[in-house]
Amino acid sequence: MTVLASGSKGNSTVISSGRTRVLVDAGLSCRELLRRMAIAGEDPAQLNAILITHEHHDHIDGLAVLARRLRIPVFFTEPTHRAWVRMLTPKTTMTYAKWLDHLQKEKAARAQATTAAIPVQELDAAATGAAQFEAIASISAEAATLDPLVNHSSADVEVEENEDVCDEEATAALPSSVKADPTYLPAVEYFRAGTPFSIGDIDISPFTTPHDAADPCGFVFESEGIRMAIATDLGYMPPNVKAALKRIDVLLLESNHDLEMLRDGPYPWSVKQRVLSRVGHLSNDATAEFLARDYDGGSAYIILGHISASNNNPALALLAAEQAIGGRMTLLGNRVLTADQAVPMEPISL
Ligand SMILES: [Zn+2]
Ligand SMILES: [Zn+2]
Repeated sequence: MTVLASGSKGNSTVISSGRTRVLVDAGLSCRELLRRMAIAGEDPAQLNAILITHEHHDHIDGLAVLARRLRIPVFFTEPTHRAWVRMLTPKTTMTYAKWLDHLQKEKAARAQATTAAIPVQELDAAATGAAQFEAIASISAEAATLDPLVNHSSADVEVEENEDVCDEEATAALPSSVKADPTYLPAVEYFRAGTPFSIGDIDISPFTTPHDAADPCGFVFESEGIRMAIATDLGYMPPNVKAALKRIDVLLLESNHDLEMLRDGPYPWSVKQRVLSRVGHLSNDATAEFLARDYDGGSAYIILGHISASNNNPALALLAAEQAIGGRMTLLGNRVLTADQAVPMEPISL
C-alpha cells in the first residue's frame, strides 16, 4: 500500500500485488498524482485500474484525465458513476427571476390557447416548482460550503490550466466528440458493495460505508494471503464495516477530527453538524473506540487517514489510537502511522 494523499483536499492510494496494481480514488489533479507516484517510486504505466469509493471531489478530481491518459478502466458502483456523470454534465442555468418569468409566459400562452379558467392545480404546480427550485438552490449552496474544492481559488485555476496540458496528451488520439465529453472514460466497470470481484490476482471485497454520497464504499484487498483495507469517509462504524475489517494486515482507517477542535474550529455550524453526523466522518474518539473494542489486534500496520487540517492534528490522532491499542503494540504488529495530505507515504510492503 502506498498512500499518495489523504485528507479533505485529495485522496489516492496505490494497492499492488506481485502482478497487479490498482489506484483507489484519484482526488488530486492528474499532474499531481503522477508527480506523487514518481516520488513514491510507483510507475503509473503499471496501473491496471482505478477504483472509486465515492463521488466527493476529494476522491475524483483527477479521475477523468488520469484514466484517459493511462487508458485504464475505472471501477465504480453504478449509482456512484451516475452521480459523477451528473456532477460533470453542464446544467442550463437560469436565475430565479428568469425562471418565474418563463413560468408566467408559459402560463399566459396556455391561457390564450383556451377560454377556460386556469385550473387550480396549475397554480399548485407553479408553487411546487418554486419550492423545488429553492430546494435545489439551497442544496447546491450547501454543497459549495461543504467542499473547499468547490470554491476555486486562483491557485486552483492554475492547476486546471496545467491539467489541460495533461488532458491534451491524454486525449490527443481521440475523436473530437469524445474529447468534448468531460465524462468520457476509456472503460467503465460496475461493482456492487457486498459482491466480491477480482482485478488480476487481487481479490476485492467492497463494503458499504455510512457517508453522505450516492453509494459510498470501502474495500478489502486480498492477494497471496495478505489482506489490506481502506475505510475512510464514514460517519460511524456499523456492524458490516466492523465485520469487513477482520484479519487485515494493513489498514487505512479514518481518524478525521478531534471533537473539541471541531466544536471550537472555523467550520460553519451546518458543516460541523454534517461532519459529526452518522453520514459524516469518524472522530479520533470513534476510531479509538473501534480499536479498543472491535479491532482484532492482528494488523501489522494501522494508517490513520483523512485527518482534518482544520479540526485535528496528526499527534492527537496518533495518541488516541495508540492509547486504544495499548499493550498490543509490538515491533512487528499494530504499528500506527499517519497519512499526510501534502506528501506521499513510504510504500508499505508485506
Ligand atoms: Zn473524503
Ligand atoms: Zn466523502
